Amino acid sequence: MFNHKCAECHEGDMFPTGSFSFKEPFEMHERCPKCDANYYPEPGFYYGAMFISYIFTAFFFLGFVMLLHWVFDLSLMTSFIWLLLFVATFFVWWFRFARAFWLNLLVGFRPEKATVAKAKG
Ligand SMILES: [Zn+2]
Repeated sequence: MFNHKCAECHEGDMFPTGSFSFKEPFEMHERCPKCDANYYPEPGFYYGAMFISYIFTAFFFLGFVMLLHWVFDLSLMTSFIWLLLFVATFFVWWFRFARAFWLNLLVGFRPEKATVAKAKG
Protein backbone atom coordinates (compact mmCIF):
# COMPACT_ATOMS: atom_id res chain seq x y z
CA MET A 1 0.00 0.00 0.00
CA PHE A 2 2.78 2.44 0.87
CA ASN A 3 4.51 1.56 -2.37
CA HIS A 4 1.37 2.09 -4.41
CA LYS A 5 1.08 -1.55 -5.34
CA CYS A 6 -1.96 -3.41 -6.60
CA ALA A 7 -4.48 -4.16 -3.85
CA GLU A 8 -5.14 -7.69 -5.04
CA CYS A 9 -1.73 -9.13 -5.80
CA HIS A 10 0.64 -6.62 -4.09
CA GLU A 11 2.96 -7.05 -7.08
CA GLY A 12 1.78 -4.80 -9.90
CA ASP A 13 2.35 -1.06 -9.83
CA MET A 14 -0.70 1.18 -9.72
CA PHE A 15 1.07 4.06 -11.43
CA PRO A 16 3.26 4.07 -14.54
CA THR A 17 5.77 6.63 -13.19
CA GLY A 18 7.65 6.99 -9.91
CA SER A 19 6.21 9.15 -7.11
CA PHE A 20 8.94 11.73 -7.28
CA SER A 21 9.35 11.87 -11.02
CA PHE A 22 6.62 14.52 -11.48
CA LYS A 23 5.99 13.13 -14.94
CA GLU A 24 2.30 12.43 -15.38
CA PRO A 25 1.81 12.38 -11.61
CA PHE A 26 -1.89 11.62 -11.77
CA GLU A 27 -1.78 9.02 -14.49
CA MET A 28 -2.91 5.67 -13.21
CA HIS A 29 -3.13 2.25 -14.84
CA GLU A 30 -6.66 1.10 -15.56
CA ARG A 31 -5.80 -2.46 -14.74
CA CYS A 32 -3.07 -4.18 -12.79
CA PRO A 33 -0.18 -4.95 -15.16
CA LYS A 34 0.49 -8.17 -13.23
CA CYS A 35 -2.86 -9.71 -12.29
CA ASP A 36 -5.32 -7.67 -14.39
CA ALA A 37 -7.30 -6.44 -11.38
CA ASN A 38 -9.62 -3.58 -12.29
CA TYR A 39 -8.45 -0.33 -10.68
CA TYR A 40 -11.70 1.40 -11.60
CA PRO A 41 -14.44 -0.89 -10.26
CA GLU A 42 -17.08 1.80 -10.80
CA PRO A 43 -17.33 5.40 -12.01
CA GLY A 44 -16.48 7.89 -9.29
CA PHE A 45 -14.77 5.18 -7.27
CA TYR A 46 -12.08 7.58 -6.07
CA TYR A 47 -14.35 10.26 -4.62
CA GLY A 48 -14.05 8.29 -1.41
CA ALA A 49 -10.29 8.44 -1.71
CA MET A 50 -10.47 12.21 -1.98
CA PHE A 51 -12.63 12.33 1.09
CA ILE A 52 -10.24 10.17 3.10
CA SER A 53 -7.37 12.26 1.86
CA TYR A 54 -9.01 15.48 3.08
CA ILE A 55 -9.56 14.08 6.56
CA PHE A 56 -6.02 12.74 6.84
CA THR A 57 -4.64 15.98 5.47
CA ALA A 58 -6.56 18.16 7.91
CA PHE A 59 -5.36 16.17 10.92
CA PHE A 60 -1.85 15.97 9.57
CA PHE A 61 -1.60 19.72 8.90
CA LEU A 62 -2.84 20.48 12.38
CA GLY A 63 -0.43 18.04 14.01
CA PHE A 64 2.50 19.20 11.89
CA VAL A 65 2.04 22.88 12.70
CA MET A 66 1.41 22.21 16.41
CA LEU A 67 4.56 20.09 16.58
CA LEU A 68 6.76 22.78 15.02
CA HIS A 69 5.13 25.55 17.00
CA TRP A 70 5.14 23.99 20.46
CA VAL A 71 7.80 21.32 20.38
CA PHE A 72 10.39 23.09 18.22
CA ASP A 73 9.30 26.55 19.34
CA LEU A 74 9.00 28.01 15.82
CA SER A 75 6.64 30.88 15.13
CA LEU A 76 3.28 30.02 13.57
CA MET A 77 4.36 31.70 10.33
CA THR A 78 7.55 29.65 10.09
CA SER A 79 5.62 26.48 10.91
CA PHE A 80 3.21 27.15 8.06
CA ILE A 81 6.05 27.79 5.63
CA TRP A 82 7.60 24.44 6.59
CA LEU A 83 4.21 22.83 6.15
CA LEU A 84 3.85 24.27 2.65
CA LEU A 85 7.33 23.08 1.66
CA PHE A 86 6.58 19.65 3.03
CA VAL A 87 3.24 19.41 1.26
CA ALA A 88 4.70 20.61 -2.04
CA THR A 89 7.28 17.83 -1.83
CA PHE A 90 4.93 15.02 -0.92
CA PHE A 91 1.77 16.10 -2.69
CA VAL A 92 1.96 13.53 -5.47
CA TRP A 93 2.93 10.73 -3.13
CA TRP A 94 0.07 11.69 -0.87
CA PHE A 95 -2.48 11.73 -3.70
CA ARG A 96 -1.38 8.26 -4.75
CA PHE A 97 -1.27 6.97 -1.22
CA ALA A 98 -4.91 8.00 -0.73
CA ARG A 99 -5.89 6.05 -3.84
CA ALA A 100 -3.85 3.01 -2.90
CA PHE A 101 -5.30 3.12 0.60
CA TRP A 102 -8.83 3.32 -0.74
CA LEU A 103 -8.37 0.48 -3.19
CA ASN A 104 -6.83 -1.72 -0.50
CA LEU A 105 -9.64 -0.88 1.88
CA LEU A 106 -12.36 -1.87 -0.56
CA VAL A 107 -10.75 -4.60 -2.64
CA GLY A 108 -8.36 -6.51 -0.42
CA PHE A 109 -5.50 -8.94 -0.89
CA ARG A 110 -6.01 -12.10 -2.92
CA PRO A 111 -3.22 -14.59 -2.29
CA GLU A 112 -4.04 -16.67 -5.37
CA LYS A 113 -3.53 -13.60 -7.53
CA ALA A 114 -0.19 -12.89 -5.88
CA THR A 115 0.94 -16.37 -6.87
CA VAL A 116 -0.07 -15.77 -10.48
CA ALA A 117 1.60 -12.36 -10.52
CA LYS A 118 4.84 -13.74 -9.06
CA ALA A 119 4.85 -16.51 -11.64
CA LYS A 120 4.61 -13.91 -14.39
CA GLY A 121 7.50 -12.01 -12.85
ZN1 LIG B 1 -2.50 -7.00 -9.28
